[in-house]
Amino acid sequence: MTTIFSTPYDVIQGDSPLLVSMPHSGLHLTPQVARTLVPEALALPDTDWHIPQLYNFLEAMGVSVVKANYSRYVIDLNRPEDNKPLYAGKTTGLFPHILFNEKSMFKPGTLEDKAHQQSCITHIWQPYHQQLTAELARIKQKFGYAILFDAHSIPAQVPMFFDGTLPDFNMGTNNGTACSPKLLKAAEQAIAATAYTQVSNGRFKGGYITRSHGKPGDNIHAFQLELSQATYMHNDGSFNLDDNKCAQVRPQLKALIEALVSCNLAH
Ligand SMILES: [Zn+2]
Repeated sequence: MTTIFSTPYDVIQGDSPLLVSMPHSGLHLTPQVARTLVPEALALPDTDWHIPQLYNFLEAMGVSVVKANYSRYVIDLNRPEDNKPLYAGKTTGLFPHILFNEKSMFKPGTLEDKAHQQSCITHIWQPYHQQLTAELARIKQKFGYAILFDAHSIPAQVPMFFDGTLPDFNMGTNNGTACSPKLLKAAEQAIAATAYTQVSNGRFKGGYITRSHGKPGDNIHAFQLELSQATYMHNDGSFNLDDNKCAQVRPQLKALIEALVSCNLAH
């Protein structure tokens, strides 16, 4: 069965040194994947929910955005194309087969469709990464450097990945190798001025996007934020945005983005 792929991402081209990537907020499924999923998986529980809405201030700030349209259940853009594991311990891969609660995503008897997986690499994964590369090059051409901010979110408690409850702001720079230390410091200071908890290079150090695109020696700086969904969603299993929480955290996210944009990284 041949798949007609829809646009794998949307782009907003801004006029600032910063590009925001949203790889896990997409909700589209291909027919091949949709027909294999159990009902619980069809609700896409492991989505980085409401990220575009949460960051609705970016366009007005002149920040560029690349936003994925397909769900991570079709292909995970924050994993390497060769599917080498990113983390020691349990993780989900390029083509996930379990939910974050460790249940199978697939109906019994589902077989891996290797040809479809290859099409997803060609039609979704590669174009997304090529677009990030092209946008970063365009920005660097103009400003002498570029910053990639990879925007994620995750429930505060996911026993498969970590014990206990996650801090609110989880910043990842691949242990300091993906960006200038000035950038992480600016981000940490922006959040230190708030009541939110934070950690840098803790459980989440930055996934494949941060690790592969961040080349500070080449004036491309990458930074991942894994935001706890407890800071902006209802904790009732509905996946709904909590308007009150959102109104509190959004200005802090904006302050964080402003701190990155105004961080002088030019040589
Ligand atoms: Zn994510």
